[in-house]
Amino acid sequence: MRNLNPTKRQEAMSDQFFDGWEKSKPQTKWDKFVAENPSLGAYLLEVYTWNDFARSLIQGINKYGNLTEKQLSAAVRMHEKHLAKQKEQAKPAPKFDLTRVSELFATARANDLKYPKFRVGDLVLLPSRKDDRIFVKDGPRYEDTYFGAVSADGSFRRVRGCPEWVLTSLKTLASDPLKEAQAYGQKTGTCSCCGRDLTNEESIALGIGPVCKVRWGL
Ligand SMILES: [Zn+2]
Repeated sequence: MRNLNPTKRQEAMSDQFFDGWEKSKPQTKWDKFVAENPSLGAYLLEVYTWNDFARSLIQGINKYGNLTEKQLSAAVRMHEKHLAKQKEQAKPAPKFDLTRVSELFATARANDLKYPKFRVGDLVLLPSRKDDRIFVKDGPRYEDTYFGAVSADGSFRRVRGCPEWVLTSLKTLASDPLKEAQAYGQKTGTCSCCGRDLTNEESIALGIGPVCKVRWGL
């Protein structure tokens, strides 16, 4: 401090003074409440301008230093509801985009497969012969129940009564077709794409016929 010029010394002293003063300043009732309930306090401050209940709570805390048990639990409930809503809004909107499925069939056709058919889980997918839709049916073997059709734009038009698991299966398929094809191959011992038995070592290891894999762009 001796080496400092007078102005500097004054600044340093005043810093010290304010430091001490800041620490010894008596806490307001509100400060105390916030120290004990930091997230609830922050929330009340965030919403009090338009939330009358929050404003009345802050006023109560400033006046009495605390809330009644009833007020506190109501405040906590309101805060929790708010947090739950925030979490809900942060979730991305559920997407249902089956573009990848239409792409698969477009690739298969481009590679000279006249009647491509794709088996996955408990579903079988096969193209319409009249337009570019892809029909979704039940059971790789029976194909007796029609669930709906995937359009070229990746949307799915389902029939009334189409069960939820069909949507889930289609979504999973679109997110990773190769993985789904391989899972099918490993489970059934047959190829998702051509339906033939997986016989050679490579096919069995892959869970899909290597030629089909290429032809379907997987
Ligand atoms: Zn195959």
